[in-house]
Amino acid sequence: MAKLCKAGIQLREQIDDAFPDRSRVSPEGWLGDKRHAARPSDHNPLPDSGIVRAYDFNADLGSSRHEAFDLADQLRLLARSDKRISYIIFNYKIASYKRNYKWRPYKGLNPHKGHIHISFTAKGDTDGSMFQIPLLTGEPINGASKSNRRKLGKILSRSSVSNLPSGWLGSGSNCKCRCSCGNSGGTSLPQ
Ligand SMILES: [Zn+2]
Repeated sequence: MAKLCKAGIQLREQIDDAFPDRSRVSPEGWLGDKRHAARPSDHNPLPDSGIVRAYDFNADLGSSRHEAFDLADQLRLLARSDKRISYIIFNYKIASYKRNYKWRPYKGLNPHKGHIHISFTAKGDTDGSMFQIPLLTGEPINGASKSNRRKLGKILSRSSVSNLPSGWLGSGSNCKCRCSCGNSGGTSLPQ
């Protein structure tokens, strides 16, 4: 049975805690549908373990749209040292190990304006430790932008919405992007 990698579960929990009013509807999700299965995608369960190494976070975090940019940027910086993050795609840009997680243009058909795609490495299969970025923990990170400092010291509750059902990617998606994120169709939420 398909399951989200531990790093993905942990990151979702931290983002839920930090942004309790955020949207979790489509394009939020992690499990690829049959159309994903026909091509390589981190949203497809690995054949042996069933683990899925990708998550799409809805970019509507509940307040300012700037927060999605801050979140994507802090995850990008963290990826230089936290080897559980493979690559990030958001708003026409991708960051991966290739240029030490500098943003570079993303030319996939789906520009990822409505969601932040995170791919995880094999290390994330079993490592569910905290992601240490200011927006999610209140801890500083080298290179974080000034605008993020207002988030420092924010007290996070770890209770809130962890019991919500996991989303999967919409079967109506017609997205053909590299990460194969579902981004335009309906989303079914298994109960
Ligand atoms: Zn995706």
